[in-house]
Amino acid sequence: MFSLPSILSNNIQTQSSSSLLFNNHHHGFHHSTRPSPRLHHRLLFSSCAQTDGSTTTNNNNYVSIPSLDDNVTRLSKFLESPRLSKIEANTSSHPLSNSNKLKIAIIGFGNFGQFIAKAFIQQGHIVLAHSRTDYSHVAQSLNVNFFKDPSDLCEQHPDIILLCTSINSLERVIHSLPIQKLKRNTLFVDVLSVKEFPKNMFLQSLPQEFDILCTHPMFGPTSGKDSWKGLPFMFDKVRIGQEESRIKRVNNFINIFEKEGCRMVEMSCFEHDKYAADSQFITHSIGRVLQKLGPETTPINTKGYEKLLNLMENTIADSFDLYSGLFMYNNNSMKVLERLDAALESVKRELFGKVLEKLEKRVVKESRVAFPTTFSNTIEKLQVERKEEALS
Ligand code: NAP
Repeated sequence: MFSLPSILSNNIQTQSSSSLLFNNHHHGFHHSTRPSPRLHHRLLFSSCAQTDGSTTTNNNNYVSIPSLDDNVTRLSKFLESPRLSKIEANTSSHPLSNSNKLKIAIIGFGNFGQFIAKAFIQQGHIVLAHSRTDYSHVAQSLNVNFFKDPSDLCEQHPDIILLCTSINSLERVIHSLPIQKLKRNTLFVDVLSVKEFPKNMFLQSLPQEFDILCTHPMFGPTSGKDSWKGLPFMFDKVRIGQEESRIKRVNNFINIFEKEGCRMVEMSCFEHDKYAADSQFITHSIGRVLQKLGPETTPINTKGYEKLLNLMENTIADSFDLYSGLFMYNNNSMKVLERLDAALESVKRELFGKVLEKLEKRVVKESRVAFPTTFSNTIEKLQVERKEEALS
């Protein structure tokens, strides 16, 4: 579906012309500055990613990133720069603690970061946080140590860096972290609602010695408010070193969710993105469409309607950044949106077809036809279409 006509060297292939990013009317986007998702630039990371025996890296992993040219330049520079090797040379080698207690540093202490921190604290882990916004007060009330400066946080040598930023800001946030200050064996985890993108970003950006776990708790501050029992927790151990302490650390982290009663689902990031487009993205899309309709509660709400109102409220409680991230950074989402459009068209055709059938029967009986005038245009159109179909 997404073709990549031009190829960038250094293992990154891209559709490089930014003129392709704009206004593709064939796909229903009419605003002149709206990038066409179908033609949205994609970085293609090939199998240059590190493999240390435990690594699983696919060829042809597509990653969508806004501001293509900027990002490609930055990423290429980053990969060519001595930063990675310097980090490998300079990182201090702190032994991992033997206790089950983890020192978890949350990067991105917004809605979801704060929500998840509460469970970590309740289970006795040490939680540090950093965010673009100063959340010192909220952090204090949660027993979390907040660091305005990410350098100070990294100097605390957390066991785990947990990325809870928006999907759109992940690249910027990772590249702004002074990871050379972390201990050599840091485990990087993310909770982003798309999975191939952070996986590839981690593999490309982090030194070989860092472990990588990609996760998606399939719930949030609303759906997981009272309990996480039975709620799915997806995870993919993308790259975990063979040392016992490193295996133990990742399992300790995963166990946090198991202890809360989550339904544990181990699957690849690739599979996740396929399933999530068909389930989560469609749910959010319907919720957003409902919001545009502006439904209101009535004195005669059915149970089904109540559910629709709930769905709308739950989905719009998440930021639009999150929703747009589900679309831009999951290669499967565009197809789902197109299918949704086609499905609505098909339902409309079925309905109007029914009206037309009835109309034609009445005409045969030479009875007077009294249909709402709102139908007449559509019916006429449908009649013309049918005649054309019959002639062709
Ligand atoms: P979000 O809008 O996706 O992300 C908000 C977070 O991103 C905040 O911490 C914010 O920092 C940070 N951020 C946004 N733009 C930034 C930028 N330009 N530079 C640096 N930081 C930036 O809302 P969210 O609900 O908190 O979700 C966070 C992550 O969790 C997302 O990746 C989402 O996909 C994932 N997730 C969310 C849910 C959910 O139900 N909400 C469930 C599972 C997974 P500041 O607050 O400091 O501005």
